[in-house]
Amino acid sequence: MSSRSLRHRIAIVFVGLLVLVMGLVLALVHHSSTRIVERETRRELAVGAKVFQRLLEQNQRQLETAAAVLSADFAFREAIATQDQPTVRSVIRNHGQRIHAQVMMVAGTDGKLIATTQRVSAPGDPFPFPDLLAAAEASGRSAGFRQMRNGQLYQVVLVPILAPTRIAWVAMGFHVDDRWAADMAGVTGLGVHIGRAGTPGLLASSGTSGSAHDASVSVPLDGGLQAVLQLPVAQVEAPFGQLQGRLLGVIVAAVLVFAAGSVMLAGRIVRPLNELSAAARRIAQGDYAQPLPPAQGDEIGQLAGSFEQMRTEIASREERIARLAYVDALTDLPNRTRFLEAFGRLTPGAGGAVMVVNVDRFALINNALGHLVGDRLLRAVAGQLQPLVPPGGVLARLWGDQFAFLVEGADADAARRFADTVLAALRDPVTLDGQRLDIEASVGIALYPDDGLDAATLLRRAELALATAKRRHAGVAFAQETGGEPAHEQLSLIGDMRRALAAGEFTLAYQPKLALASGRIVAVEALLRWQHPERGSIAPARFIPFAEQTGFIREITPWVLESAVRQAAVWHAAGLDIAVSANLSTLDLLDPHLGRRVRDLLERHAVQARRLCLEITESALMDDPALAQAHLDELAGLGIKLSIDDYGVGQASLAYLKSLPVDELKLDRSFITAITDSPRNAAIVESTIMLSHALGLTVVAEGVETPAELCWLREHGCDIAQGYGIGRPMTAAQLQDWLAEFSLRTVA
Ligand code: C2E
Ligand code: MG
Ligand code: MG
Repeated sequence: MSSRSLRHRIAIVFVGLLVLVMGLVLALVHHSSTRIVERETRRELAVGAKVFQRLLEQNQRQLETAAAVLSADFAFREAIATQDQPTVRSVIRNHGQRIHAQVMMVAGTDGKLIATTQRVSAPGDPFPFPDLLAAAEASGRSAGFRQMRNGQLYQVVLVPILAPTRIAWVAMGFHVDDRWAADMAGVTGLGVHIGRAGTPGLLASSGTSGSAHDASVSVPLDGGLQAVLQLPVAQVEAPFGQLQGRLLGVIVAAVLVFAAGSVMLAGRIVRPLNELSAAARRIAQGDYAQPLPPAQGDEIGQLAGSFEQMRTEIASREERIARLAYVDALTDLPNRTRFLEAFGRLTPGAGGAVMVVNVDRFALINNALGHLVGDRLLRAVAGQLQPLVPPGGVLARLWGDQFAFLVEGADADAARRFADTVLAALRDPVTLDGQRLDIEASVGIALYPDDGLDAATLLRRAELALATAKRRHAGVAFAQETGGEPAHEQLSLIGDMRRALAAGEFTLAYQPKLALASGRIVAVEALLRWQHPERGSIAPARFIPFAEQTGFIREITPWVLESAVRQAAVWHAAGLDIAVSANLSTLDLLDPHLGRRVRDLLERHAVQARRLCLEITESALMDDPALAQAHLDELAGLGIKLSIDDYGVGQASLAYLKSLPVDELKLDRSFITAITDSPRNAAIVESTIMLSHALGLTVVAEGVETPAELCWLREHGCDIAQGYGIGRPMTAAQLQDWLAEFSLRTVA
């Protein structure tokens, strides 16, 4: 709207200026032509009046000459002298006709008419214009304009007839009528009107008396008469009027042309401005895509150029920012943020699946072949997964070797089929530098909305499902197959763990292991304790599973091993002959550097390998049995004791366990509890002890709480017992006192 008015304003200013200038020109022309008309009128009137007077005089002289010719006529004079009236009349009639005088009169010196061509008067009547007679008597002749008794106006000339003295007067009159006036008008170029001064009505006129605007001059005649000479102003004005008319036409045309030109020009000025403001609006709305029309070379063009530069720079900056914020730099796939955002755009009610894909043994490959190969492998995996993205779906790299698919509208069956496609695609070997890498993957699936309503929950549950899939070697697992979600308190603990480790809030407690045959404490198990400044003591069962899920256990275990081995060295130096057990998690077991680290540790603290025992659960073995076996072989090669923890909870067969280089089997607490009441439990434990011994394994009973249990175990050949019934986990210092007291008790 404002641009429209700008355009109008420009046009109005231009046209207004032109109209003003033209108006001034017109006014000037009008003013000077009026002055010229006035001057011209005055001049023409003056000239006309002069000509008019000349004509009157000329007429008069003509009459006088004619009268003189008549008065010189001898016969005429004789006829007057003899009073021969008929002759006199005939002479004046003839003479009058000759000189075109309409009235001829002869009067005696007594002032009485002798003859007349006028019918209204007769001889013997007094001469009708005694004033003329008196004037002639004084100056010898006279002339003037007189009205006859018939009302008509004449120019009358009176001359004497001399023989040689004056014997009579002859008068000649020329009719002053409209024709006369017209003739005069023809010569003077002015309207001629004769009238009596101060009396309306004309005695003679050359035509219509014209308008009030006409200029006139009055010429006084004798006998109270006057001639009004009139110049029609219109006649003078005509050429000027024509000129002004033409000028006006030119001005109107010029204004029109100028107006059109101005509107066009204003349009050309304003159009790019309009385009710029439209572009500015688009940019304000976040649309940087549409380029501006090519700029011209003028100032607006320069503005448009700067504007265009601004647009492209904002657009590229925006793109860079979006890239940084939303794109994974390594694989060029969308990142976690983009994934969460894409989830937000999911059609509500349509359902869908969130699938987390993880490359099995990626850590091993990364560690064995280096990070550069690891990165290239991830790019290759991204390349294999990308073509599988369904329409409307998203594939993102969450972190490390963790990828995630969002498949809109997928139910459990569709998700399972999709997961199989993903696994099949990843089974194609990847070749890096001519080296063939067989990779396998696992998929965890969470379904929307059954498993969660928001992306974060679904991702977390899909990751838990992924962990389950890995543990089971199933390839694919659904979130519903895993337990509930970790409680919020536990989640916040995960964040706390890193700080706790640095702040020294972790400690180790040691629980004694009693050899039933000798009654001696032969070993202790190191158990992790977290002394939280606000929450107090936190049991390992509450945070270790999450340390395993988040991978933070990789930082905890080295600390545990270091502390345990250091303590073993201290005890050895104190002359105590006890081995120390430490617990390993799945991730620890899969760590390719585990063997080297443990060896370095033992060397550093000068601790014999047989004084260290590592406890591994069945499930840790099942995650990647081949790799687990390889690492166990390496550890066993060092001379370290290996123990299967919580035996009996999982599915592992003793035959399988025998294929591993393990020394010890720890029967899970659930079998020991109520061993004295439940014959079935007793039978299981009894046969397990027998089988284990047959396979050359030491058997440890966990969770021994009562003397009856202890007694039963000793009777049934169990090798070692551990439990509150013998001793609770305690600090290293407490343990030393406890040991001293224990040996005193046994001695007693
Ligand atoms: P675990 O390795 O089977 O350790 C034995 C657990 O049983 C310990 O619980 C111990 O306090 C408890 N216990 C011992 N005797 C009795 C008894 O007579 N009755 C009962 N009810 N319980 C008894 P804790 O210390 O809470 O540890 C729980 C689990 O946490 C451990 O089970 C182990 O799997 C894990 N854990 C503890 N420390 C570490 C560690 O440093 N690293 C790793 N990876 N895991 C650890
Ligand atoms: Mg243990
Ligand atoms: Mg145990």
